[in-house]
Amino acid sequence: MDLGIEGRTALVCAASKGLGKACAEALAAEGVNLVLTARTAETLEATAAELRSRYPVGIITAVGDIATEAGRATALAACPAPDILVNNAGGPPVGDWRTFSVEQWHAAVDGNMLAAIMLIRAVVDGMAERGFGRIVNITSAMVKQPNPALSLSVAARIGLTGFVKGIAPSYVGSNVTINSLLPEQFETDRLRSNIARMTSTSGSALDEAMAKAAKSGPAGRMGRVEEFGAVCAFYCSAHAGFITGQNVMLDGGRYPAVF
Ligand code: NAP
Repeated sequence: MDLGIEGRTALVCAASKGLGKACAEALAAEGVNLVLTARTAETLEATAAELRSRYPVGIITAVGDIATEAGRATALAACPAPDILVNNAGGPPVGDWRTFSVEQWHAAVDGNMLAAIMLIRAVVDGMAERGFGRIVNITSAMVKQPNPALSLSVAARIGLTGFVKGIAPSYVGSNVTINSLLPEQFETDRLRSNIARMTSTSGSALDEAMAKAAKSGPAGRMGRVEEFGAVCAFYCSAHAGFITGQNVMLDGGRYPAVF
């Protein structure tokens, strides 16, 4: 299926690795020009070079922490009027919620709620004026099925989710949609470090814990980042203009409820 977004421009945040990178790649495969962000210049440049070698699209990088105003200003200077915005940032630490400091709560809100809200605010009215916009937020399955060890993530992302549901209907009439993708157990560095922390393992014991985690869900495996990227690209496509304010679980069937 031609997604109808060739020649569009996407700002993809936190895109040097994992799910963000997979979204960037799936969009590049559709002919979308990219502005990619991450904090570590070396990894980000390596990802940009890798994607440039595979796809004939424009790819530029904007190094910075998307959880900060400075990082967002750098991203927006490189991409002031994106057609597509993929909001993403690193997840907060896992742990006993009683032990998190006020600073850690603020950091979670900055990274997993305010960063996305501020970027949406910066670009959404321009998208509406131009008559096309697709915003995808990478959140977490924890939004619908909270785990106490991920309380920082749950609380901050629920705030973003409520905000998005409130504003999304105002923009769909201008062909601008805002949806969230809710991953669980995609094989990335973040998942590996979370499982290491939760199981207190490393090395081969961590490999075993990863294999056990993979087998624990109905799919009997972890998600592949390419699967995530493809779904993101569809929600960014010309065909997805009648879907907005949704929270789409990508969890291999783990979520047990109907809604
Ligand atoms: P990952 O493999 O660790 O990749 C994280 C990417 O984000 C890297 O490119 C990293 O580069 C960049 N990044 C992190 N913090 C950033 C910041 N403040 N500003 C700019 N870039 C930043 O992680 P992932 O698994 O893809 O996870 C992506 C998001 O999905 C996270 O919020 C995670 O909590 C959430 N999630 C993932 C899963 C899963 O199954 N993998 C499940 C639920 C939720 P730098 O470090 O160089 O900045």
